[in-house]
Amino acid sequence: MISLVDLKAQYQSIKKEIDLALQDTLESGHYIHGKNVEAFEKEFASYIGSRYCVGLNSGTDALTLGIRALGLNSGDNILIPANAHMAIVEAIDANRLIPVFVDINTQDYGFDLVDLQKKITSKTKAIIVAHMFGQPGKIEEIQDILNESNHSIHLIEDVCQATGARYRDKRVGSFGIFSAFSFYPGKNLGAYGDAGALVTSNPKIASMVRLLQDHGQDGKFRHTIVGSNSRLDEIQAGVLRVKLRHLDKWNALRQEIAEYYGKQCLEKVPFISTPYSQAEWHSVYYAYIIRVPDRDRLAAYLKRHDIKTLVYYPTAPHLQRAAMHLGYVEGDMPHAEECAATMLGLPIYPELSAEECRYIVDTIESFYAAHA
Ligand SMILES: *Cc1c(COP(=O)(O)O)cnc(C)c1O
Repeated sequence: MISLVDLKAQYQSIKKEIDLALQDTLESGHYIHGKNVEAFEKEFASYIGSRYCVGLNSGTDALTLGIRALGLNSGDNILIPANAHMAIVEAIDANRLIPVFVDINTQDYGFDLVDLQKKITSKTKAIIVAHMFGQPGKIEEIQDILNESNHSIHLIEDVCQATGARYRDKRVGSFGIFSAFSFYPGKNLGAYGDAGALVTSNPKIASMVRLLQDHGQDGKFRHTIVGSNSRLDEIQAGVLRVKLRHLDKWNALRQEIAEYYGKQCLEKVPFISTPYSQAEWHSVYYAYIIRVPDRDRLAAYLKRHDIKTLVYYPTAPHLQRAAMHLGYVEGDMPHAEECAATMLGLPIYPELSAEECRYIVDTIESFYAAHA
């Protein structure tokens, strides 16, 4: 069976370095607050091209604490894309703010810019750009829309699926007032457990989040605000330091696979929509998403031929039961709903071999040859 990702194969490829890092941490006697977290924060901020990084225990916490540090008023609105990860809704809800869905476009799967413009009101205090599937969103166009509106609106980036991606010559995550990263094991840069980070060049947000993530302490047992426990631990930070050194190479391998899929699929199977690609947008292909009209039949066929696929995500968030209180109904976000019905994620990870890629493409072709 060809799996969607193969974290074991990745571990095998860096086993020596990882084992050494783990052993080093275990023997240090410091498991929370130590040299790994401090070093990782410096290295990661510099990798992204921002001034500060605060290590946290998840991408969800990065969103939650970052939004809290903005100091918005209860009831303020945050615009979010209609294909958002539920973590975005959770982070807004935890801050007693209101998420307002904006439909997506079917090119880069970011905001539909026309709908974005329509949804901005005097209550809009922030928007969250989610770089979905590794694909950078249209940052400059979005910044222009915010600048042209007569409101002061924060731009937040959710980079949980796009660590390392670039828009022109800057890494995504360096554009917003702050950006949220997830190091969940399956993400492009993944820990061996839960982990995340907030990146910002704003010193106030950095110090506020630093305070919040460690019980609001600005010194041992000196609590200046009510915070939480959202710390990154030493073991995960040690793992992340090792993996960060390999990330660009791994992302380049994902890009090669995506290019291969794209060329093969585009040339031979015209009714498959493959991911958008353009010189200025450097996607890191967290997922390789195609859109096909007969998605479920294709997925079943691939499964019968030992190829795993995944539907990201079968239900748009505005139609989830957990979002019912927000009052959306089917038909409110036509593009997002169409994508939920037609999107399919193919296997993609750095260790996927050329033979496996060819087999996947051949199998998709044979499905369409048989069903055309
Ligand atoms: C994974 C993910 C999150 C949540 O990250 P966790 O580390 O699991 O909390 C948020 N947003 C997006 C787009 C994600 O893919």
